[in-house]
Amino acid sequence: MKTAFDIIRLTPKTNCGECGFETCIVFAVSVIGGNCKVGLCPYIKDKAHGVNNERAGIAGEISPDTALLKELKSKVKSADLAKRADGLGAEAIEEGGQTALKLPYLGSEVTISAKGAKDLNGHELDPRDQILLYNYIFFGGSGPLTGQWIGLESLPNSISKVVTLRRYAEDKLAEAFGGNIEGLRKAAGRLSASLIDPCHADLCLIVPVLPKVPVQLHFWDQDTEEGFGPRVKALFDRRVLDFLDIESLIFASERTAEAIIAQTS
Ligand code: SF4
Repeated sequence: MKTAFDIIRLTPKTNCGECGFETCIVFAVSVIGGNCKVGLCPYIKDKAHGVNNERAGIAGEISPDTALLKELKSKVKSADLAKRADGLGAEAIEEGGQTALKLPYLGSEVTISAKGAKDLNGHELDPRDQILLYNYIFFGGSGPLTGQWIGLESLPNSISKVVTLRRYAEDKLAEAFGGNIEGLRKAAGRLSASLIDPCHADLCLIVPVLPKVPVQLHFWDQDTEEGFGPRVKALFDRRVLDFLDIESLIFASERTAEAIIAQTS
């Protein structure tokens, strides 16, 4: 099965935008997510002969996440991080003689630079989290959020992703906290989630995943008498796709669910 890394390797990585996506990374993730065809990049055909075949053996020995991460770190060297800081809700800082961005991610402060994304103890984050954070930076969103919350199904080109979001984020949370609403409130609170009141579900929370990507979670607990299981619905700001592509948004939601569940152990 192809990965986003396989697709990126086929592009010239110039971020020219001719495919309609801001960067080659976003394009590659969209191809893997089934949102567009690889032929949208007019440069892939030429590049697909020779060079990529030669490198196929090497790629087989490298974990795609690790190789993609290496590429992202190298790309961030030429990005003007200080210029992007405000729009992303981050702070530009000096770290080891280089500019880095400091921002909150799932309840903890992290720094991101060409050396990687690290927690405040200097430990590198899980490669998947680092890729998400680099995508957030390269997406380069700016401006205020709308304060209008909508379900994934109301975002463009999202229909095929609704089931993925349910399976990997909403259902995971519902299963973990069915019959334990207080446990969910406490666990999410440890990630700096705030309660929404009034709430038309049994519990409504806003989890600050990234500065410009908050996720609202509505939780309905199980009703054994009526025979209903627990249910969770995630909502996003109407402008969320100005800050993350849809694949990254679903991944961010999955990591949010995992991070909340991890707070109970
Ligand atoms: S058209 Fe190709 S090279 Fe240009 S941004 Fe899209 S994927 Fe990258």
